[in-house]
This record gives sequence, C-alpha cells and structure tokens, in this order.
Amino acid sequence: MSPTNAFRIATIPGDGIGKEVVPEGMRVLEAVGRRFDISFQFDEVDWSCETFKKTGRMMPEDGLERFRTHDAVFLGAVGWPDVPDHVSLWGLLIPIRRAFHQYVNLRPVRLLKGTTSPLAGRGPEDIDFYVVRENVEGEYSEAGGRLYRGTEDEIAIQEAIFTRRGVDRILRYAFDLARTRPKKHVTSATKSNGIVHTMPFWDERFKAVKADYPEIRADQYHIDILTAHFVQHPDWFDVVVGSNLFGDILSDLGPAVAGSIGIAPSANINPERDFPSMFEPVHGSAPDIAGKGIANPIGQIWSAAMMLDHLGHPQAAQAVIAAIETVIADAASRTRDMGGKANTAECGAAIASVVAAG
Ligand code: ATP
Ligand code: MG
Repeated sequence: MSPTNAFRIATIPGDGIGKEVVPEGMRVLEAVGRRFDISFQFDEVDWSCETFKKTGRMMPEDGLERFRTHDAVFLGAVGWPDVPDHVSLWGLLIPIRRAFHQYVNLRPVRLLKGTTSPLAGRGPEDIDFYVVRENVEGEYSEAGGRLYRGTEDEIAIQEAIFTRRGVDRILRYAFDLARTRPKKHVTSATKSNGIVHTMPFWDERFKAVKADYPEIRADQYHIDILTAHFVQHPDWFDVVVGSNLFGDILSDLGPAVAGSIGIAPSANINPERDFPSMFEPVHGSAPDIAGKGIANPIGQIWSAAMMLDHLGHPQAAQAVIAAIETVIADAASRTRDMGGKANTAECGAAIASVVAAG
C-alpha cells in the first residue's frame, strides 16, 4: 500500500447526535476504504461539553498538539444547552481552525437526487454551488471591549480585522475553485455601502485578484440582496465567497435552500496542507433528538466524502455521494427528517453496503 493510501484521522464525536453520526461516517469510510484500498487509523478523543463541565475546558491545554501531524480531523458536533455557545466555539472550534490555519470554510450547496428543496416546484432545480467562507479573521475577533459598564452611557465596541494576506488568500481560493467548475463564476458578498472601511477594502482586493483570472466571470452583491437571490435564484450561483460573518450566514442559508440541514456537509480547509483540515456536518448537536437514534447521518457521511476528496481520493468521494443518492432515492432507507422511517444506523449501513457493492 502506498503511503498516500493510509491515513491517520482524529475523530471528535462531541455532543448529542455527534456521538451517533460520527460512527456512521466511520462505517462508510471503512467500506469505501476496503473497496478503494485505503486504510484509516481513527484516534478518538472525548472532547465535548461534558469535558467542559468536568474540567472547565473543552479540551486539554496541549490538546491541539495531539492532532498536529494527523491527516485530518473528523468532527461530529459540539455544544449543549447548559453550556454557553461561545464556550464550545471559542474553546474548541475556533482554536482548531486557527491553530491549523484552516482559513477556508467550504460548503457545497447541491440538490441531491431524492431530496426536495423547500423551493421545489416554484424555483429552479439545478442548485449546485459552493459557499466559500473566510474562516479565521474578519468580524469574529476578540478585539474590542466595553466601556462605562452598567451606566446609561455604556458602549460596546467590536473590531473587525481584515488583513490583505487573509483577504487575498480566500479570494484566490474561490477563483481557483471556480476554475475547476463548468460555470466559471465567482460572486463576492459585500456591504461596502454601509461598512466603510473593511468592505471597500474587501471589494478592492476582489477587483485586484479577479484581474489574474480573466476567464472567470466575477460579480458582487450586497449581503442583504444576496440572501434574497439565494432563495429566489439559487441557480445563478457557482462559487460564492464571503467574509467570516457573511460567509457564516450564507453557508447556513445555502443548505437550507437545498433541503434538509441533516444532509449538509462542511469542510474547514488548510489549502497548504501543512496541518490537518477538519470535516464536520453543518448541523449542531440537536439536543431535541439526541439519544433517540433517529438523527440523519448523511451530513456526516457527505463530510467524509469531502475529506476523501481533500486526501486525494476523488473517486472514492464520488462513490460515497453516489451511494447517498441511491439510498435516499428509496424512502425506506431515509431517516424521519426526510420523510422515512429508518434509524441512524440503518441509514448509515445502507449507504455503506451500496458503497461496498460498487
Ligand atoms: P448549532 O448552534 O450547534 O449549530 P443549532 O441549535 O443551530 O446547533 P441543530 O443542532 O443543528 O441546531 O438543530 C437544528 C434543528 O435541526 C433541530 O430541530 C434538530 O433536531 C434538527 N437536526 C439537526 N441535525 C439533524 C440531523 N442530523 N438529523 C435530523 N434532524 C436534525
Ligand atoms: Mg446553528
């Protein structure tokens, strides 16, 4: 077996349904590995809100050291109602994204065969685009503060940080991605009419970077009208690039337009590959259905397909997506959120067996 067919994967099942869907992702990876001669060594950690409640930290102080040389991180979901959201975000997700330079958050928005869009019947069916979100700087920063607390003059200040290096590299990633796609089209999300320093800078860099890609059609919209176009004209888009905040909003809206949140995947990518990238479903820990065994495992399994693609196995990735489409075409194998009766394990096993059969 050649070295690029053997991978060490760190797994973080996390909280709630994360614990139920990660094993299904692993099951499908094992199946695809047998078929395509790829081996996975899974190293699991139990970092979660439970860890936080016991130790006061989401992960050990030297936690990131343990993953530095792994090939990828495969994450379920972290977050639980009795722990404030910012704890799981700033205690685990953001440190991983930053330490491993995962400055691209990539989410495919695609209408798979067998899924129905909330827009089906009144909109175009050919929804197939990517949201590329800047993942490490921008609006999500710790710079700022509070003044005159508790008085009537109280002030909160939040600084957004946009660096030329950070903006250029995410824009280039978007243009490079568009180059690989038939429509060859990049759309930038902006708000330079209302935000007078960072967004005009973003627009300037967009214009500068686009000059290097004459074969790509490039346009830009203010974030407000862009969200309306996502709903009314999802067929217009190919690669949509946005800052951390705008990308966050668009990358939740996109999968919603394409169907169930339970099937949407995402990747936190380090394009230079000097550290592991991280793959996780778009959905959270879903406390309302956790522990019942009914969660849809497809978001996790599709995230595994994105991981295979990133690891240099696009055919294996395609085999997983084809198996997902085969399985959801049959109502009996769908989970409840997609109108079926299958449980998490039955849906995962069905996908794994289609993958194995080839
Ligand atoms: P987070 O803040 O971590 O993103 P959230 O509060 O936004 O989490 P989710 O945990 O994603 O929300 O859940 C939103 C809704 O979608 C819930 O009703 C949940 O049950 C449902 N849901 C999420 N994931 C799945 C899934 N895999 N299968 C079925 N239903 C799901
Ligand atoms: Mg959420």
